[in-house]
Amino acid sequence: MPIFEFECADCGRISAHVMLGSKRASRPACPHCASARTRRVMSSFAVVESEASRLANLDTSRRPDESFYGDSRNVGLWAKKRAGEMGVDLGSKFDETVEKARTGKLIKDME
Ligand SMILES: [Zn+2]
Repeated sequence: MPIFEFECADCGRISAHVMLGSKRASRPACPHCASARTRRVMSSFAVVESEASRLANLDTSRRPDESFYGDSRNVGLWAKKRAGEMGVDLGSKFDETVEKARTGKLIKDME
């Protein structure tokens, strides 16, 4: 799905928009302040993949670099796959923790 992120020149906030067909060339207004002065930024989630395909494409033979963890969706993914390869069942508690880490709830819970 073509998802693009736009940064608002007025309020500085970034919003994500699904751009289909002819809309692709247009710039959406900022949903926060309605400014039309938005510019496209490189999206951190331009390609939305299912976790299954992300897991399949993940190469655990090399350690991920920092940019890998810069993507919050990758939190726990590497460990998950590695554990799977070693036959370790991390259990549902792990999934829950990963999910919390991804959505930022983990940090909230620690505060
Ligand atoms: Zn704005």
